[in-house]
Amino acid sequence: MTLDLSWILLGLPAAFVLGWLASRLDLRQLRIENRRNPKAYFRGLNHLLNEQQDQAIDAFIEAVQNDPDTSELHFALGNLFRRRGEYERAVRVHEHLLSRADLSEADRQRAQHALALDYLKAGLLDRADEALLKLEGTPYQTQARLARLANAERARDWAQAAQIARQLDQTEAGSFSARLAHYLCEQAAEAVRRADLAQAHELLQQAIATSPESPRPRLELARLQTQQGRPEVACATLEAALAAAPAATPLIAQQLASAALACGRAAAVLARLQEAYAQQPSLDVLDAIVTLDAALQSGADSRGWYVRHLEREPSLVAAARWIAGEKLEHEQFHPLVQRALEHAVRPLLRYRCAACGFEAKQHFWQCPGCQAWDSYPARRVEEL
Ligand SMILES: [Zn+2]
Repeated sequence: MTLDLSWILLGLPAAFVLGWLASRLDLRQLRIENRRNPKAYFRGLNHLLNEQQDQAIDAFIEAVQNDPDTSELHFALGNLFRRRGEYERAVRVHEHLLSRADLSEADRQRAQHALALDYLKAGLLDRADEALLKLEGTPYQTQARLARLANAERARDWAQAAQIARQLDQTEAGSFSARLAHYLCEQAAEAVRRADLAQAHELLQQAIATSPESPRPRLELARLQTQQGRPEVACATLEAALAAAPAATPLIAQQLASAALACGRAAAVLARLQEAYAQQPSLDVLDAIVTLDAALQSGADSRGWYVRHLEREPSLVAAARWIAGEKLEHEQFHPLVQRALEHAVRPLLRYRCAACGFEAKQHFWQCPGCQAWDSYPARRVEEL
């Protein structure tokens, strides 16, 4: 019995010593691994700097395997995958980060943002929207809202776009009222297609109230009023547009001239357009003036307006319009000459996006080339 007890007394300290030795061995092993990690990390960095992305990814994967807790490495790896178009792998890395319980709040938000970018780049817009919504109330909120706005525009979901624009307008991201007016106009156009004219009216009135200096809502409201056989109301709407958005006069002039002729306000509107033309000569305003002048004094030669325009500035468009009504000495060749002139004039009558240079026969509120809003000046290519 005494012998057994002494063995136990001796054995206990020995077990402690062995345990302590084992723990030391573990620590040593860990230190060796930790020392290895930076090596793989720096190797990856070196490859990155040499633009060898494949080798960089291999090195980073090795480093991440050795130390799965390193969040910075995960971020670097995720971004690399996304840049290379390997969205599935990027998503896996960022989802793995998000699933970690020890991640700081800032890193969690960063990972959520990175995940949203993965989905955006992959074109998975529904999932991107879901991921972006989770960034509300974080420092990424404005960025996320702008991305969701671009998504809504792409999907032509104007009600959703309007809702996000309202949120953005309330934060410090700048004024979104002009954009909001466009979204309301797009919704009004949909209502017109559904033949819901009351709803279209309501939306256009909202658009005018949202952005009083935008020409589009009043132009579209006037078109609706003309369709409903109310030219005098349309004329008043267009005159208000002229006052609110003088830079858009060339876009308003022709529609205004037609409305004025239909409601007997030609003389007053002619005077108003002449005033606008004197301040800023423009081909479209000139055409509207000629239309009104010809109607008011039938039989008179209104082409004198084109000559007066040519005195102010050289314009092939004005010259072609004047020659069209002129009697030539060899009149039998006039159609041929006129055809050649019309052909030469056509490209000069286009509108050009100031942001990307895309040219179009008609004026666009949103460029079909670069998707920018209000990037088309109201003036033709010849006048730029
Ligand atoms: Zn453009």
